[in-house]
Amino acid sequence: MTTLAGKQGLILGVANKRSISWAIAKAASDAGARLALTYPSERLEENVRALAAALPDPLLLPCDVTRDQEIAQLFRTLGGEFGGLDFVLHGAAFAQKQDLDNPFSQTSREGFRIALDVSCYSLIAMARESAPLMAARGGGSILTLTYLGSERVFPNYNVMGVAKAALEASVRYLAGELGAQNIRVNAISAGPIKTLAAMGISGFSSILQVYRDRAPLRRNIDAAEVGDVGVFLLGPQSRAITGEVVMVDAGFHVTGM
Ligand code: NAD
Repeated sequence: MTTLAGKQGLILGVANKRSISWAIAKAASDAGARLALTYPSERLEENVRALAAALPDPLLLPCDVTRDQEIAQLFRTLGGEFGGLDFVLHGAAFAQKQDLDNPFSQTSREGFRIALDVSCYSLIAMARESAPLMAARGGGSILTLTYLGSERVFPNYNVMGVAKAALEASVRYLAGELGAQNIRVNAISAGPIKTLAAMGISGFSSILQVYRDRAPLRRNIDAAEVGDVGVFLLGPQSRAITGEVVMVDAGFHVTGM
């Protein structure tokens, strides 16, 4: 399948080979896209560089989403190198460890600010910068990653659940605004997958077990399954879908008990 042949995309959120963003990057590359990947710090640059070596002609750029200057520089470079952009995957999220361990009511003002800034505001900033580059290509697709903790209470998900609720609302508002330029904005709500970010949530393995026991498909999902849906949402086959949160969770969200 080469549904993304001739397309150019930006992938944000690869930390290592377990990252959901990496699964989507691989699937998008297999579908024919040329990719730019970002790393948020020198510490992670080596990991991302080693993974990107498996892709044809990748572009590697720094971007810590808490820094406006780095975001602006990223899109300046992309404009110069790619001359336009067809899709963006936003896979960045962060909350301080104490805000995932302490009772939710103990969330600090600063912890709340950091979680919402990295995990939600960054989508708005990326969309704003992407829009002119996508408009130059006649439209585009922006995709982010969310979790059911935006609507339901999961132990220790805490401030990240609030950040995901704000992220999903941002998807709808961005879709409402950017649709006029043929730019679509969607989210995949993935079931739990053992990644670096997930390991920050105490009791994460019991969440995995509950999905295995209760999801209609009686199993967990893997990142490659998110990759496949990612290619669909980033590419032309989903051209009439925007403002949507697509559940990729073995059906867990429909269960009553
Ligand atoms: P991950 O740790 O591999 O990815 C998180 C990414 O966020 C990392 O690449 C990290 O570098 C990046 N990041 C953090 N702070 C950043 C900053 N300041 N600037 C730029 N990037 C920054 O873990 P993952 O599970 O693949 O997470 C990817 C996305 O998927 C997140 O939004 C996460 O909430 C979401 N998600 C994960 C699961 C799961 O169970 N793993 C389920 C649903 C949704």
